[in-house]
Amino acid sequence: MRGAVIHAPGDIRFETLPDPKIVDPTDAIIRTAVTCVCGSDLWAWRGLDATDEAHPMGHEYVGFVEEVGPEVTAVRPGQFVVGSFATSDNTCANCRNGWQSNCLNREFMSTCQADYVRIPNAQGTLVATDEVPGEEFWPGLLAVSDVMGTGWYAADAAEVRPGSTAVVVGDGAVGLCAVIAAKERGAERIIAMSRHESRQRLARAFGATDIVTERGDEGVARIKDLTDGIGADSVLECVGTAQSMSQALRSARPGGNVGFVGVPHEVAVDGQELFFSHVGLRGGPAPVRRYLPDLIDRVLSGRIDPGRVFDLTLPLDQVAEGYRAMDERRAIKALLKP
Ligand SMILES: [Zn+2]
Repeated sequence: MRGAVIHAPGDIRFETLPDPKIVDPTDAIIRTAVTCVCGSDLWAWRGLDATDEAHPMGHEYVGFVEEVGPEVTAVRPGQFVVGSFATSDNTCANCRNGWQSNCLNREFMSTCQADYVRIPNAQGTLVATDEVPGEEFWPGLLAVSDVMGTGWYAADAAEVRPGSTAVVVGDGAVGLCAVIAAKERGAERIIAMSRHESRQRLARAFGATDIVTERGDEGVARIKDLTDGIGADSVLECVGTAQSMSQALRSARPGGNVGFVGVPHEVAVDGQELFFSHVGLRGGPAPVRRYLPDLIDRVLSGRIDPGRVFDLTLPLDQVAEGYRAMDERRAIKALLKP
């Protein structure tokens, strides 16, 4: 089979690789229907995450089951399946509590920009659709496997409630999906923080009622202006930098909540400031598996269309161009077709 391998920053090659095989009885092998490049893949592309030796890339996938190990009974060959970037047995104490992305047997996916993928913990990880969905649904279902699931968790962690005001920090694919989540969960006012016109348009199409282009102190001041001077009920932090986190914490009202899903890079939270703010804080890798059945239904019923975050489609063998286009912000998110 063929797949993407990173050798060094800026050096992604499309190579012939060994076909994945069932290793553990709980594994499945899927044939990729579509996959994509994630904003978090760019950390390695840009050299901000070290690449000590060449390794495959990709953690988002939907596909067709090819083969299952002897302990996998929940899915069978031929079915179309959606899974999370974090695999989970869905039976351990953490999974039963709904924190499948902290499964005691968790393995993070990292080989998905390829023709075929081995899925560990397949029994608990994969959710099959009732029938093979039309190709028009594949991008939306692919989004559910990571960015839509993560946006949903941001809204859940920030406790977005009907009638509330939500601020979304970040206009990447996760931030845009967080707008969808805030809308679906009934937020009345959704303020998207974005400086890019095409992304502002998509945020509005997804349900944003206001756009704030300012950042830092000015951004916080604008949010206060829009919320009677007290701040928002919920803030969804979808970037992961020191500046975005500080902005998120200062944009929430006393008693409000921040959900943070951007992987933190050099973020430090001031204990005194947090203590006196009365702001609640929860984040982490999203327990996407918990939301999969519901989000799959919302996509297949046409209620949401998170697949619109893919504004560039490439054949899988041009995966490196997908990284370049996203790095240069020519694309929000690149869809890859084997
Ligand atoms: Zn588990």
